[in-house]
Formats: sequence, structure tokens, C-alpha cells
Amino acid sequence: MPTYAEAHRRSLHEREAFWTEKAALIDWNTPFESVLDYDRPPFARWFVGGRTNLCHNAVDRHLAARGDQAALIFISTETGAHQTYSYRELADEVNRFAAILKAQGVGRGDRVLIYMPMISEAVFAMLATVRIGAIHSVVFGGFAAASLATRIDDARPKVMITADAGMRGGKTVPYKHLVDEALRLARHPPGKVIIVDRKLDPAMTRVAGRDLDYARLAAEHEGAKVPCVWLEASEPSYILYTSGTTGNPKGVQRDTGGYAVALAASMRDIFCVAPGETMFTTSDIGWVVGHSYIVYAPLINGSTTILYEGLPIRPDPGIWWQIVAEHKVRTMFSSPTAIRVLKKQDPAYMKKFDLASLRYLFLAGEPLDEPTARWASDSLGVPIVDHYWQTESGWPILSAQPGIEDTPRKFGSPSFPVVGYDVRLLHEMTGEEVGTGEKGVLAIVPPLPPGCMTTVWGDDERFVKTYFSTIPGRQVYSTFDWATRDADGYYFVLGRTDDVINVAGHRLGTREIEEAVQAHAGIAEVAVVGVADPLKGQIPVAFAVVKDPARVASAEGAAKMRREVMDTVDRELGAIGRPGAVHFVSLLPKTRSGKLLRRSIQALAEGRDPGDLTTIEDPSALEQIRQALAGK
Ligand code: ATP
Ligand code: MG
Repeated sequence: MPTYAEAHRRSLHEREAFWTEKAALIDWNTPFESVLDYDRPPFARWFVGGRTNLCHNAVDRHLAARGDQAALIFISTETGAHQTYSYRELADEVNRFAAILKAQGVGRGDRVLIYMPMISEAVFAMLATVRIGAIHSVVFGGFAAASLATRIDDARPKVMITADAGMRGGKTVPYKHLVDEALRLARHPPGKVIIVDRKLDPAMTRVAGRDLDYARLAAEHEGAKVPCVWLEASEPSYILYTSGTTGNPKGVQRDTGGYAVALAASMRDIFCVAPGETMFTTSDIGWVVGHSYIVYAPLINGSTTILYEGLPIRPDPGIWWQIVAEHKVRTMFSSPTAIRVLKKQDPAYMKKFDLASLRYLFLAGEPLDEPTARWASDSLGVPIVDHYWQTESGWPILSAQPGIEDTPRKFGSPSFPVVGYDVRLLHEMTGEEVGTGEKGVLAIVPPLPPGCMTTVWGDDERFVKTYFSTIPGRQVYSTFDWATRDADGYYFVLGRTDDVINVAGHRLGTREIEEAVQAHAGIAEVAVVGVADPLKGQIPVAFAVVKDPARVASAEGAAKMRREVMDTVDRELGAIGRPGAVHFVSLLPKTRSGKLLRRSIQALAEGRDPGDLTTIEDPSALEQIRQALAGK
């Protein structure tokens, strides 16, 4: 067994041998001629000349050994659906869906836009698309018509797949209705729309000639078999837009061979799920975590994956643990936000179920604060693995890799660079590497490893310009996140590079100030933004959620708490980081994937338009910010 350090060294210095071994984890129709073509930096082509197919690796190749094993378990606490598909049943569904797409003229390289709730047909649609060599673009169901229209025009799909509606918290959320609106706005609408009618929205209308009913098409293509199209490893498998919390969403393009290899390797090295074991990832198929760890990685690995439609607290806050117990989940993957939601509930729900099967809880997507990590670790009795990555990377960049070596974890740190990633911390002005404990831009020396984005869809220039041209003097990939590394080599992610504020010439990360505020035991959560100030350049302003709202209910209580918070920041960080104002709210504006809408908060604080808010979890959170700023 190689230790982590040795494995990581090999992944960079014996790159060909290392990735050749990993490539054996998947099936190739034609072997690759070379591991890497890096003749045109920063564009990397992995496994050149090799032909493979994502759907073959996720479905067909398991049929002989695991045809009767559960592949996909769909659970909806919204509709009460609970359905298990074996690998054989999944193959039937996917073949039929592939036949439907082919009959609509979809072929290699064509785009299929999927705008669907968390239902099995969404997974069938993704797998069917890649089966026939087409490219999917899954758009998160929370996006409004205008955002959907932008993505339609960028990807120019031949066919769109949607459902009449989704459900959230017991309420019907129309999908098809939004698609109609988006198609009116789009300049390049697709010719056909396939609709999975769940019979949730009686008001749904159809456009004759354009809209097709999935159930009818499925009946027509019952029993169809469609062969996989063997793609060259670097042909695209999908486009996925970043969540857009910092800027215009970018169409991340993913390859085929490199992605399959990276995911297969990650299931063993990082997530420690064996073939036949179950993984439960609570994300959405519209996000990268859903693409990689609900759909492709568990299936490529021959594991069982759980697709969950519903909230973590309905019908009660025990639902996720009930699922873990019932389906003997080995590894669970969720977000810090979801765990914070559960932390506010009665802890008895976590003790109600037998969680003996569970080995790890992985959390990613945003910084994991120490109190939340400790709470989860104490209540579940399993290791909590904070890991860091991006839509762009497609799989973890920083993580403990217990499948390679079970290194001790430190709260607040996503541990070490994942094998294949040459991670550096660079000074933003000089491009030099920073020392231990010093803050630097988290950067990756190219070539990016297999699985990472290969370009921006339709815009190579934007790929180079956006990601590889911001560090002076060298062509390295910037994550646009700040981090430090301690003497033991552990990384700590401090926040986004554009979340840095300049207070009277001092550069401070908003995340550092947030951590200082959170050192006050009475604070549950906080957002700090920089607000333009004529005197100091910028001043930090804090919006805090207190654990016990009664403490700030009166003006005196609020004033006392405010003083305490400021004193805490003085003590933890120094007076330079002291917020110019501390406002108390009962919730913070976040996207439905749990990311803080910092840009919008800052815009409001500076009296500007808060921008695109279509993915906001709860619009009343923004209203609270408005009112707090207005002094109400
Ligand atoms: P956009 O790039 O369009 O602004 P986004 O960056 O929010 O959107 P994602 O790719 O979904 O889109 O998010 C990746 C980002 O999430 C990382 O760059 C980092 O800022 C944050 N992140 C992810 N995991 C962690 C983690 N474990 N700790 C701290 N931050 C994390
Ligand atoms: Mg980003």
C-alpha cells in the first residue's frame, strides 16, 4: 500500500504509469495510444486515441456480474415514490430512452438540454444521451425562464427534456410552464420537447408538433436496444454551467475518457465505496456533485446510488438517517448547509436509526465551520470529510484520501491535494509561492488532471483568459479561492479571491472576519461583505443569525450583542477587521445549493441592484437584509 505522499508524488512525476493503472478501472473499446497530449497548453487531452463510452461503463459492463443488483434507488418524500432499478432494469430504461432520442434525430455531438426534477427519468435521460454520443446540458430546476433561455442559446440543443412539474416541501413547482416561457425568450429554441408527465400540474399545456409525451414514446420504443457510440476519450460528454455566485456562469465542458477514469479512481481512493455498496449523495442532478456522485461515479463503480427528491426535514428530520439505515448506506455526501439545517433540529432523530453501515460523511461546496463539523462527527460517530472542489474540476481537488491512506483530519481543513493535482499557493501580485501559514491564491499547475474541464463550451479563448491568465508571470489555473497551508501540509480555504476587502489599505478576507464573528458562542451564522466607504475604501458589514433570537429582540439586547460581537472580532482578528455595522437577521440569502449570495448582499448594502436571484432558496432572506439596512 503506497502512502498518500508517495501516491501523490507518483501521480505527478510518473504521470503516465500512474494514470495507465487508473485507466484500467474502466472498459475501453479501443485502447489509448498515449496517456496525455499536452502539445497545446493549457489544453490537455487525456488517453488520446482511446475509445470508450460513459453509459457503457456505468451500465452495460455491469450486466454480466451485477444484472440483478440495485443500481438506482429513487426515493421521493414529496410524492411517496420509492422505486429500485437493478442494473438490468436500468439498462432497459436507458436503451429505450436512447431509442427515443435517436428517433428525434439526435446523434453524436448534438446537445440535449435536460431541465428536470429529481426523478429517475432524469438519470435515464443523461445516460441515454451519452450512450448515443450526444452531449447533455443539465440545467438546475431552480433556474428561472431567463436563465434557462441564456443556457439554451449557449448550448443550442436539438431536443429538450423536461417534466410537467417537481415538488418541494409539498408544493408543486411547475417545470414545463417555465420551459414554455424560456422557449419564447430563446433565440435558438430546439425543435422538440419531451415531457415526462407526472400528473402533478393539471394546468400544463402542450404545443402541437413540438411537445412530445414521454410515456407515449416509451410505449412505442418498448424493448428497444441501442448500441453505445464509442467516442474518442476527449470528445465531450456534457456541458454544465457553474452556479454563477460570483459572475456570469461559464459552460464547463467535460470530456469522456478522462472523466470516467477520474471518477472511477475517486470512488476507491477518496470515497471508499466498493462495487455493490451504496452511496447516498444529497445534491441535485443540476449541480456538478449530482452529475459526478449521484449519477456517474457510483454507477461506473458498480455501486448502488440513491436519488432523493425532497427536503432533509420532511416528513421529519430523521428522513436521511432512515434512508441510510434502510439501504445500508456506506458513504454519504452532503453539504455543510444541509448539516446546519439538521443541527437546528431535535438531536433525537439522529439516534433513532441504526447507522452502523455508515463509514463516512463527505461534505463539500462551501467552507465547513468547525462547530458544524464537530457536531456532525459527534452525533453520527463517523469521520466527517471536508473536501474542496469546483464545477470546473468535476471531482475533488483537496481531500483526505482514506482509500490510499487514512491520514488524520483537522477540523476546518479539506486536508491535502488529491492525486493528480499539482496544487500551489501563489502570491497574487508576484506569482511566487507563499510560505507556511501565508495566504495565497489556490492554483493548479497544468496540465489539469483527467476529469477536469477541457474548455469553456464554444470559447477556447475564454477558457485560457478566465482561468489561466490571472497569476502574473505564469500560466497556471486559478481557482479564485484563497487558502493557507500549515506546517503539516493541511490546506485551509479562506474564501473567494473576489471576496477580499480593502480596509484602509489592509486586505482582509471576508471569510476571516466571519470566522472571527463566529467565535462568539451566541452566533449561529454570519455573512460579512465589504461596503464602499469614502474614507477607508471599504468597510466590513456583518449580517448575523443569532442562536437565541430573544437576545436581540430588544434594542438594548441587540446593542449589547453588537458590542460583544465587535469585541470578539477585536480579540480574534484585531480592530482592523471590526465590522462597521452588525445587523441581526433570522436567515441569510443562499442559493438552493447552499451557497451564500454574497454578491447580492453586497449590492444591497451599496444600494445597487442585487442581480440574478433565480436560484435563491428563500427570497424573504433578501428582504430581511433590505430591512436591516433600512434600520427597521
Ligand atoms: P461561479 O464560479 O459561477 O461563481 P461557484 O464558484 O459558486 O459559481 P461551484 O463550482 O459550484 O460554483 O462552486 C465551487 C466553489 O465552492 C469553490 O471555488 C469554493 O469557493 C467553494 N467550495 C467548494 N467546496 C468547498 C470547501 N470544502 N471549503 C470551502 N469552499 C468550498
Ligand atoms: Mg467558481
